Amino acid sequence: MKKTSLRDFYEGKISPYRSYSSYVKEKFGEKVYKIPIHLKGSCPNRDGTKGHGGCIFCGEEGGSFEWESIGSVRSQILTTKERMKKRYNANQFVAYFQNFTNTYLPLSEFEKNLEQCREEGIVGISVSTRPDCIEDSYLKVLESYSSNYEITIELGLQSVNDFTLEKINRGHNLQSFLDAVEKISQYPIRICVHMILDLPWDREEDIIQAARIFNKYKIDEVKIHNLYIIKNTKLGNMFESGSFLPLDMETFIERTILFLEHLNEDVVIGRLTGRAPQSEVENSNWDHSWFYVRDRIVETMLSSGRVQGSKANL
Ligand code: SF4
Repeated sequence: MKKTSLRDFYEGKISPYRSYSSYVKEKFGEKVYKIPIHLKGSCPNRDGTKGHGGCIFCGEEGGSFEWESIGSVRSQILTTKERMKKRYNANQFVAYFQNFTNTYLPLSEFEKNLEQCREEGIVGISVSTRPDCIEDSYLKVLESYSSNYEITIELGLQSVNDFTLEKINRGHNLQSFLDAVEKISQYPIRICVHMILDLPWDREEDIIQAARIFNKYKIDEVKIHNLYIIKNTKLGNMFESGSFLPLDMETFIERTILFLEHLNEDVVIGRLTGRAPQSEVENSNWDHSWFYVRDRIVETMLSSGRVQGSKANL
């Protein structure tokens, strides 16, 4: 049998998991680029409505580092779109409201933000939020866009273990997530879940359990992250004082592969590792680039014949 290599993966000939890029090529016929939209929002887990202080790893930008421009939603879309067109010859885009809790904005503001996405080339709208901020009124607004755009809600969950959720101060439990999924599933909206697979309070059983829950609830997409330790956060301070020790890269790689093996093969993997600028963090990607970590996962899977979905029915 022919031996597969990382080069085959880069050339798109083989992938041990169902990547987002292959999904969008199937659906839209070519690569689709995300336009990250950066808004100065808020979060009920920071302002006292649901909790105080926010998740222990959350920095000033509300859970994200990736944006390329500032200004109104429309101007961010136009600026980034032009840049991506020139750089990648890109034609199709997803407007991605990535930071803070977008469905915590007043409904009228949320509607105005979506209205500004009606730009040439936009084929999808993706909205990040928390499981305890899912209301029918917001889902109805999103539904009204669904005949022209692919709509995705990105739910931060990070762990399915309630003890871990408490340790990271998420301010919600697993049941809130399940309730949110049931509600969103009544609408023509895809669901993407964000998971941190190297939280030290989780065990391998929790990782497998997460995959089983996502299979059962027919989650469309998962974004896998490793834990970054951002400066001046609660976690950053714990790290500085020596009261928090991150897990090592090998453990993250093994947990990620275990998760993928137990996840249905048709679930799209939006990402395999996190990305954070070195200047902002105490520790991220074990001092490697994000693609080094991604390549290590892929190489390990290819060399050992481990693939997404192979244990989904066990
Ligand atoms: S839910 Fe998101 S924005 Fe809110 S505190 Fe947690 S990571 Fe930050």
